[in-house]
Amino acid sequence: MRSNIVLITGASRGLGKNAALHLARHGHDLILTYHSGQAEAEALVGELQALGRQAVALPLNVADSASFDAFAEAVRAALSETWQRDSFDALVNNAGIGVHAAFAETSEAQFDQLVNIQLKGPFFLTQTLLPLLADHGRILNVSTGLARFALPGYAAYAAMKGGIEVLTRYLAKELGGRGIRVNVIAPGAIETDFGGGAVRDNAQLNAAIAGQTALGRVGLPDDIGGAIAMLLAEESGWINAQRIEVSGGMFV
Ligand code: NAD
Repeated sequence: MRSNIVLITGASRGLGKNAALHLARHGHDLILTYHSGQAEAEALVGELQALGRQAVALPLNVADSASFDAFAEAVRAALSETWQRDSFDALVNNAGIGVHAAFAETSEAQFDQLVNIQLKGPFFLTQTLLPLLADHGRILNVSTGLARFALPGYAAYAAMKGGIEVLTRYLAKELGGRGIRVNVIAPGAIETDFGGGAVRDNAQLNAAIAGQTALGRVGLPDDIGGAIAMLLAEESGWINAQRIEVSGGMFV
């Protein structure tokens, strides 16, 4: 059976990197994109190759939609050179940033940055890459538990993620005819660099969030990487148009 090729945005660190490692252990090959972390992404390519998988790393700024056509050309070239194929099998729209600001103090610049990275970027990147996504492929968007649970200070961030959740349902409907299934994963609080590493580094915040989960702890990257691998697996082939929260039972 041929390998599945999964393209993950923002894969130089955090959840994207972790998902790449899980997917490699499940036998997938990877196209990683990095924004600022070229050295980290190239080191990850080495780790994936050591696991016996093929992988490439390509630069991408998801806030720069004018660059998407050139990025698609780079993906096309990588598919041809590395896999002798003209399509890949799954897209994970993972890249994102955390911006904390009270609603009354959120600036237009902060809003624009969030909308460009977390809503406009995934919308047009997915549109641009669609001709390269195989029929019966998969799209997995990354949202947040905060799209459902209103935590003061995240109005703009959560609004963009809410948008990606709605977009998920529309893409599932419009792409279902090609056999492409589209889901969105909503992580709870996870220990990564996200938001300046606050969940990982601020013990008080960490304990407060842990106390809000049924399992009594915050998440680790493995908790999400494993769930992403599960959702992209063939065994999940009937899971479609769904929001899957992976939070240890947060705010139940
Ligand atoms: P992280 O900060 O460790 O990693 C974010 C990744 O996105 C990095 O690789 C970064 O280079 C990339 N990125 C940022 N701006 C970019 C841009 N303009 N173009 C391309 N790439 C860009 O954070 P993470 O925790 O790994 O977050 C990954 C995703 O998970 C994000 O979409 C985030 O909103 C979501 N999420 C995270 C948490 C959490 O607690 N960590 C919770 C819910 C959802």
